[in-house]
Amino acid sequence: MKKSRDKFSEKEASYHREQAEDLAQERVHELKQLNESEKDELLSELHIHQIELELQNRELRESQSRLEFVQRQYAELYNEAPVGYASLDQNGLIVRCNNTLATMLGSTPDFIKSRPLVHFISKKDHAVFLGRYRAFVKSPADKFIDVQFHTKNPEQGDGTTFIGRIQGRHITRHESAPQLKNETLLVAISDVTVQKENEDRVQHQAFHDALTGLPNRINLTGHITTALALAGRQNRFGALLFMDIDRFKTVNDSLGHQVGDELLVRFVERLSANLRKQDLLVRLGGDEFVLLLAEQHNDRIQMAKVAKWVAINLIRSLTEPFLVAGHNIQVEISLGISLFPSHDDDTPVDVLRQADTAMYQAKADPSTAIAFFDFDMQERARRRLSLEGQFRIALEKEHFELHYQPQVNLQGEIVALEALIRWHHPDHGLMTPALFIPVAEETGLIVPMGEWVIDAATRQIARWQEQGLCKPEFQVAINISTRQIQENSFATVIEQALKTAAVPAQSVALEITESLLLPNDKRCSVQLHRLSQQGLTFSVDDFGTGYSSLSVLQQAPIGELKIDRRFISGLGSDVQEPRSNLALVRLIISMAKELDMQVVAEGVETLQQLEVLRSLKCDLIQGYLFSKPVSVSHINELLKGGPIIIDER
Ligand code: C2E
Ligand code: MG
Ligand code: MG
Repeated sequence: MKKSRDKFSEKEASYHREQAEDLAQERVHELKQLNESEKDELLSELHIHQIELELQNRELRESQSRLEFVQRQYAELYNEAPVGYASLDQNGLIVRCNNTLATMLGSTPDFIKSRPLVHFISKKDHAVFLGRYRAFVKSPADKFIDVQFHTKNPEQGDGTTFIGRIQGRHITRHESAPQLKNETLLVAISDVTVQKENEDRVQHQAFHDALTGLPNRINLTGHITTALALAGRQNRFGALLFMDIDRFKTVNDSLGHQVGDELLVRFVERLSANLRKQDLLVRLGGDEFVLLLAEQHNDRIQMAKVAKWVAINLIRSLTEPFLVAGHNIQVEISLGISLFPSHDDDTPVDVLRQADTAMYQAKADPSTAIAFFDFDMQERARRRLSLEGQFRIALEKEHFELHYQPQVNLQGEIVALEALIRWHHPDHGLMTPALFIPVAEETGLIVPMGEWVIDAATRQIARWQEQGLCKPEFQVAINISTRQIQENSFATVIEQALKTAAVPAQSVALEITESLLLPNDKRCSVQLHRLSQQGLTFSVDDFGTGYSSLSVLQQAPIGELKIDRRFISGLGSDVQEPRSNLALVRLIISMAKELDMQVVAEGVETLQQLEVLRSLKCDLIQGYLFSKPVSVSHINELLKGGPIIIDER
């Protein structure tokens, strides 16, 4: 068969040869027939054709060198690109890589080639990488993998690490040169270590408190949800503790925010040292902290015991005072505990609110620092809320009245009065300030309430002066809350009230608290000085309970100190009196004399107390011994009646 085909080809070839020879003969013959001019024409045609061929050749050479240039450029770009490139084959082996990748991995392209990519990934991230790789290969365009790479060979144990982001795309068939057809995936690896660190920092900041580094409120909700779910699944009880530092605001106000901040940091350190690692301590903000215990129990009582034990331990850890910026600060906390779940459908918000309510209860009860939540408490909290609503109405309708309490000198003569607010409640009758001032302070309603007091008191002073019951130098003291003085308009409100009532500034004393004498609150001190220049005097109420330092007392325009009732109460009774109270009262009186200030003893109830104060030469006495705070008509009688004589029998 092959033979016959060869034969046929030979035949065919000789046939073609013969044909070509015939054609050539024919052409030669034709040429011979041509005249000279026709020959010239043919030659010139041939020449043009030759030139055209040469031009085509040149173009070809040029585009060849252009192509080579572009290829060189591409190779340069590929090698020096700011990201590492690697082409992988179907098995994930690196077929080709650029220099950048080799540098990133602290190696050479030759070393890298034909090794799997995973070889350069830190062992700890192998599982992550392999877990995601299949999905990544399927549709690389919309995925990326962040893993830790190590430079140098891990077996050598040296080198550093970086977080690399692997992105990629499939290599299309028409792109791949025949010799590279095993490349299926092009991956780009960029070093995102810094970016990751920044992301982690932002993430950390979002979920942590900047001052103490503790997790914040956002973190807490998730953890309570988990704890609730765990307790629900296993029929167990958990506990959440809500803590608040007592009188922290006083520390902040009197010693400055920096001291307050440092105290918080040290406080957290102390608490953390007394907690188990699994327990979650969270700063809610300000001086409020929450502790979620990891331990849970099947028995609710057992869980309550554990929570109480933890709470007592925490309180004990605070026995030693904190030394911050040269100040010895004793920290006390109030602690509310909520055991959960209390209902099937408890939410994290419920648990937190219950612990918060219990904390308020602990704070309000001076006999204990720890309180467990019960549903009566919730009822009280609800009542508190309704009180706020009623108080707003009272403000609108002016359901208030001022009572006045005399301040007498050592001869029993009334030389001043203190105005004390009372609320005529439609259901509860006459209410004393302890029942509503805290709500007014919390809600800011103390500001409009305070303005009503200033207005009512100045108008009353004007009336007494008109009636000839008081001389201009007879002072009426008005209590001012810190919140009021923080209002920019405070000085103007006082000035306006005095002007409207036509009362001289010397007839009014403003009672402020020690915490207000902060050295670093410019706004308050500007207002105090402005008013003092106009002749108003300031009196420090409840003196001895705050943190005021001597230098602050000297600088502020203070004319009077009122010794707090708690120091007076034990005076003169041999049995009850802590000796230090007498020493303290003596010290305050002699200090006030040195600073040229007047001293008032508050809450004087017994003759014995009066005797001690007399012997210490206290200037003024205020207390039930002489008179309770009473209505205007009652005061009118007292003012008309001369010195108050105490029956000393
Ligand atoms: P404070 O300014 O220290 O007033 C003295 C409080 O002690 C008054 O209570 C008074 O009734 C009471 N007191 C006086 N003598 C005795 C005594 O011998 N024994 C006892 N046990 N108590 C005595 P009150 O009127 O209930 O006022 C309580 C607090 O409410 C005041 O303490 C003051 O801080 C605040 N407050 C009263 N009125 C106002 C007001 O108009 N504005 C502001 N911001 N606070 C006010
Ligand atoms: Mg007062
Ligand atoms: Mg007082």
